[in-house]
Amino acid sequence: MSDQRVYNFSAGPSMLPLSVLERAGSEITNYRGSGMSVMEMSHRSKIFLQIFQETQDKLRRIMHIPENYKILFLQTGASGQFSMIPLNLIGKTGKADYAVTGNFSSVAYKEATKYGQINVAASSEDRNHSYIPTQNQLKLDPQASYFYYCANNTIYGTEWPYIPQTGDVPLVCDMSSNILSMPVDVSKFGILYAGAQKNMAPAGLTVVIIREDLAGHELPYTPLMMNYKTMIDKDSMYNTPPCWCIYMLGLTLDWVEEQGGTEGMEKLKKLRSSMLYDTIDNSKLFHCHAQPDSRSGMNVTFRTGNEELDAKFIAESIQAGFVNLKGHRKTGGMRASIYNAMPVEGVEKLCDFIKAFDRANG
Ligand SMILES: *Cc1c(COP(=O)(O)O)cnc(C)c1O
Repeated sequence: MSDQRVYNFSAGPSMLPLSVLERAGSEITNYRGSGMSVMEMSHRSKIFLQIFQETQDKLRRIMHIPENYKILFLQTGASGQFSMIPLNLIGKTGKADYAVTGNFSSVAYKEATKYGQINVAASSEDRNHSYIPTQNQLKLDPQASYFYYCANNTIYGTEWPYIPQTGDVPLVCDMSSNILSMPVDVSKFGILYAGAQKNMAPAGLTVVIIREDLAGHELPYTPLMMNYKTMIDKDSMYNTPPCWCIYMLGLTLDWVEEQGGTEGMEKLKKLRSSMLYDTIDNSKLFHCHAQPDSRSGMNVTFRTGNEELDAKFIAESIQAGFVNLKGHRKTGGMRASIYNAMPVEGVEKLCDFIKAFDRANG
């Protein structure tokens, strides 16, 4: 079965490590002698609570999450956080700073304007989100309740090469598409969150890492399920959590540890992305969407500049066993999402394919 797997460059949901899928498969009808699947367990059962606790502990260990931060396992996707963040945080001053560097931060910004006065601290819209603004370009409001940004722009293929410095204003960061791809100093953030389906687990789980003192200041009309305090007080179990996804995250975290943790992930990220960018830079036909100093190590956006040729590339790539290389309509061309679970050999083979296409058509 496993030898028929394709190299899946999907932006999300995306590849999971083969060993994680095989492990889940081997336990799917009978989890470690329990006589049932994780999907069939009560979320309040001792056996599931152990999975839950171990998964939290592993994430805390791997990301070196300090004690004064809570880990929440929520639902409603990363997009749910676009509402939850202002609902819970903006009450402090009624104002917030947003850096708009792509699709998801733009959606988050628009959502936040419902709840307070939002300052666009920076925008890369002028050049179709092909770059990340520098620290000096950020127009910071010291009165902001928080500063919001998206660390990796999944659609445009850019990634912040630095953590913004915002003084006492808490940093809130969407890390949906680059969490666990490098070591991160969590203590620099107020909230760090990610939808699971890029680097962690199947869709349906959103991981939120929140500095505890930021909870409990929600706007009065904040829905119960969108209140961080509710979820902290009930340890993410106010209602039924996404049990299966949490279990899958646990398996993925075991795999991350086996690969050398976030340091190991970062090495692989650099290896994969530098191979691919070098191949594109050295080709006659292809060029990247992202400016060199802002390029993402997770989503590589590139094109020929000729739509017919791009379509030919995509059609031939499918024949060659690569799937989901078509770019998002906002950037056109191609996008290769090379998350943690993408094997290095998948990228090596893609590079060979790009070189061959370049020779044949260049
Ligand atoms: C995929 C993605 C989202 C949206 O995630 P959902 O779980 O579908 O809501 C938000 N932000 C980033 C950076 C993403 O890559």
